[in-house]
Amino acid sequence: MKNYNLLFLFVVLLFYSCSSDEDSDEILVENNIEIPLSIYQKIYKTTSEIYIEDGFVYINTDGVPDHKSPYFLDTEWENEMYEAYDGTNPFVTSFNLNPNRISAGNIRFKIPVSPKKAQIITETSMGPIGVSLNGVTFYNQYAGGGAPLSNEINSFDQYNGHPAPGRNGGGGRYHYHMEPFWLTKNHGKNTLIGFLLDGFPIYGPVENGQELKSADLDDHHGHSHSTSDFPDGIYHYHLTPDAPYLNGIGYYGVPGTVSE
Ligand SMILES: [Zn+2]
Ligand SMILES: [Zn+2]
Repeated sequence: MKNYNLLFLFVVLLFYSCSSDEDSDEILVENNIEIPLSIYQKIYKTTSEIYIEDGFVYINTDGVPDHKSPYFLDTEWENEMYEAYDGTNPFVTSFNLNPNRISAGNIRFKIPVSPKKAQIITETSMGPIGVSLNGVTFYNQYAGGGAPLSNEINSFDQYNGHPAPGRNGGGGRYHYHMEPFWLTKNHGKNTLIGFLLDGFPIYGPVENGQELKSADLDDHHGHSHSTSDFPDGIYHYHLTPDAPYLNGIGYYGVPGTVSE
């Protein structure tokens, strides 16, 4: 008699394990994206060719912006690239040039080409959390020590970036915490601006003619729908003018790595 019960249990388990394939279609659509090289090639300022290998895209950059900045003062690029702060950054109330100056790095991103929703959330760390179209790094919503950015914002230049402090370990690495004005001015406020380390794309602050706010997005600072680059739909982050600007509680997917 016991053997019959076991056989019955086995048949029931078999039935459920087969039928669950159909139920998981919805999850598979979201996790079935493979981003083509042509989309990564929108990143136009790199130090070597972008390539894909074993499920990862490799993007190498020196992190030096292709736009002018007051932070090129006293650097090797000063003659061509220095431009005094021009008063146009709407987030800056009283511009304060920080003591750091732009330097070139050797920043190597290894990012999954099939980004997937993570089962366990990974928080972003200090330092680079993503890459923008001009090869400049994105940082998260915090200043050093996990403090809010509020005091640092006055050191953002007219393109909304600034260099990190220190001589080593990222010293002088220029980065954006918020909308890169140079890119949204040249490419549009509603287009692809870069990628976070987990492989999900970053879009500008405007969608369907409306400027988004953090409240329009989920806790990671994104949502899913189709875009011109991804007609079948994809999860993506948006830059917003209000905190946390780019990412909230951590990566939506499993992050790749960045090294220098
Ligand atoms: Zn910063
Ligand atoms: Zn969107």
